[in-house]
Amino acid sequence: MRAQPKASHHINGKYVEDKSGDVIESIHPANGEVIARLFEATPEVIDQAMTAAQAAQAEWAARAPVERGRILRRAAEIMRARNRELSVLETLDTGKPLQETLVADAASGADALEYFGGFAPTVTGQTIALGGDMAYTLREPFGVCAGIGAWNYPMQIAAWKAAPALAFGNAMVFKPSEITPLSALALAEILSEAGLPDGLFNVVQGRGAVGAALAADARVAKVSLTGSVPTGRTVYAAAAAGIKAVTMELGGKSPLIVFEDADLDNAVGAAMLANFYSSGQICSNGTRVFVQRGIKDAFLDKLAARTAKIVLGDPLDEATQMGPLVSAGQMERVLGYIAQGKAEGARLVCGGAQLGEAGCFVQPTVFADVRDEMVIAREEIFGPVMAVLDFEEEDAVIARANATEYGLSAGVFTRDLARAHRVVGQLQAGTCWINAYNLTPVEMPFGGMKASGVGRENGHAALEHYTRVKSVYLGLGDVDAPF
Ligand code: NDP
Repeated sequence: MRAQPKASHHINGKYVEDKSGDVIESIHPANGEVIARLFEATPEVIDQAMTAAQAAQAEWAARAPVERGRILRRAAEIMRARNRELSVLETLDTGKPLQETLVADAASGADALEYFGGFAPTVTGQTIALGGDMAYTLREPFGVCAGIGAWNYPMQIAAWKAAPALAFGNAMVFKPSEITPLSALALAEILSEAGLPDGLFNVVQGRGAVGAALAADARVAKVSLTGSVPTGRTVYAAAAAGIKAVTMELGGKSPLIVFEDADLDNAVGAAMLANFYSSGQICSNGTRVFVQRGIKDAFLDKLAARTAKIVLGDPLDEATQMGPLVSAGQMERVLGYIAQGKAEGARLVCGGAQLGEAGCFVQPTVFADVRDEMVIAREEIFGPVMAVLDFEEEDAVIARANATEYGLSAGVFTRDLARAHRVVGQLQAGTCWINAYNLTPVEMPFGGMKASGVGRENGHAALEHYTRVKSVYLGLGDVDAPF
């Protein structure tokens, strides 16, 4: 099983290798096989990428937006045509089942390229009447943006950052997570093939230190990170030192509130999606499932029955519904939380163990009778571990849902739409779902409140985060000077 790219980095439209960097191994987590060996970017490699990005950006920004958009839309088409190949690559790198990657990863990346490709030519400024004189505004790109990605949706994260950055005239230097280094290189190849001029999208590999070097580089005007809250604090601080713009897409411990009048099958299905899709490794997951007491038993019965039927196994088999966790380290972390849940007295409804000898498989796990103060109800686990908590009153559950430093997402299940809107109006979360969960179409802005982040990806909101406004005052009369 090999997925060795031509070289570690993709800079100025070409693969670049420098074997003096530390080795990075990409491991297929279903069996522990090394599928690719790459090298971390050295300072010289980072410099090469930055120089290329800076040199290419001005000419790109000067192009007609419709032309920039056309290239991105062409890239979207190539990506869709290669969906299977890209999905297999993503499955090898992350362990996510092919059943998922075929519909959720390259497909979502292609949506972003298509959406922002179409958006680019529609961007306009304002004209502002000033009673005689006037002003107008221009939306200008930042210049060079740094993108730093997490390992759970490597292709999607790279595309969600590259598409708006490039559409609005920026260049980007992107560092994937060292755990999943491969698909960003495939995106760079596709963009080049679609006609993106050299230097505009560069991929450099590395661990945290490479990300830190990008965030601190004086040539970078904007930093976009997808990662954990602790990393977010560090990267935000580095960006602050250079007064750089940031987008921070960070972690969460999101609430999913199920009222007694909810459609139970849909609510159970959503809770499973919100905890077991991608083996639970999704930032927006609804990992605190608050169930109103009257339906608690029925909810747990249905949940346990459906969870028992989840097909775990070889992620390359399209019948598999759940693959391994991304790495042995992540598996150990998740098993540690499961042990803690048991020790704290939460009731294990199903799962709770590692599966098999080889590979990083953890059973889909449900804890009931979870209390707010338990560690499994407070910390982001990033694995297939659902915590079910009881509630009685609407006001009390809203307060409990909000009693966290996170504020990424939230969900409400009820047939009472007035209640749904009332509750959503009070939830401190950047993205809320009513009678749905974890759907993130490119048309809808996505991002966090509180410690879950700053800025928004996708939708019209992304324009705010990949352009800055220039105001131009137009004097149409004589200058009124008091001198
Ligand atoms: P990390 O925070 O560990 O890493 C994120 C990225 O930052 C990686 O590329 C990492 O490199 C890099 N990095 C680490 N330290 C630094 C540093 N000091 N300066 C610059 N870059 C650095 O997150 P994970 O990769 O473990 O991903 C899981 C986390 O991501 C979860 O908390 C999850 O909630 C969050 N996430 C948020 C999403 C959102 O949109 N809100 C979406 C997906 C995930 P390296 O790989 O070497 O560690």
